[in-house]
Amino acid sequence: MYCVKCGVELADSEAKCPLCQTPVYLPGYEASEDRPYPKFDKPEPVNPRGIYFIISFICIIGAVISFVCDLNLGTGVSWSGYVIGGILLFYVVFILPGWFKRYNPAIFVPVSFAAIALYLAYIDVAVRGGWFLSFALPLTGAVALVVSSVCILCHYLKKGYLYIFGGAFVLSGLLCPVMELLGYLTFGGPYIGWGFYPLIALCLIGIMLIVIAIVKPFRESLCRIFAI
Ligand SMILES: [Zn+2]
Repeated sequence: MYCVKCGVELADSEAKCPLCQTPVYLPGYEASEDRPYPKFDKPEPVNPRGIYFIISFICIIGAVISFVCDLNLGTGVSWSGYVIGGILLFYVVFILPGWFKRYNPAIFVPVSFAAIALYLAYIDVAVRGGWFLSFALPLTGAVALVVSSVCILCHYLKKGYLYIFGGAFVLSGLLCPVMELLGYLTFGGPYIGWGFYPLIALCLIGIMLIVIAIVKPFRESLCRIFAI
């Protein structure tokens, strides 16, 4: 028996052509139940929790091993603090959200930045740097605010991306001179004013995105040019 449309050879069990889906129609013919190939079932989705469980286990082992090695080699906890802190940071940022069914940026993005700030605080204490409160904390906080707002707005609005990213570029630009000033106040050294160059560049990009968002004909002609 052959398909009337594409001519492919059909098994007796087939009610329609496997290639072109044309129904097999023969007067007095009914497709038999036994199929020439096993019925195709969708593969079962892999449970990601198993993977997260394994990664969690590896993280714990890594932390314990570095801690024990450090204790045996040195006089106390020295380098293993950074290793364990790094593992914890990696875990909070990349693995922890995986345990939850839905990624909620309103929770996980600020939590990730809090973890980064804590890790920096630990390093500051460990090296007696004295730069955390005056430099790292305000900077991490400001970056956290910008990134969190972008993630949350994109997640919930699902439109107006041009406005969101335009605003984010302008805010990031404003952060640059602030970063330079904080660095100058914390570490000293000559004040060059390099922060104003990225400020101008980022603000220009941001304003351009917002202009594209506002001026509809301009946006449409850009879409045509880039075939979006
Ligand atoms: Zn066919």
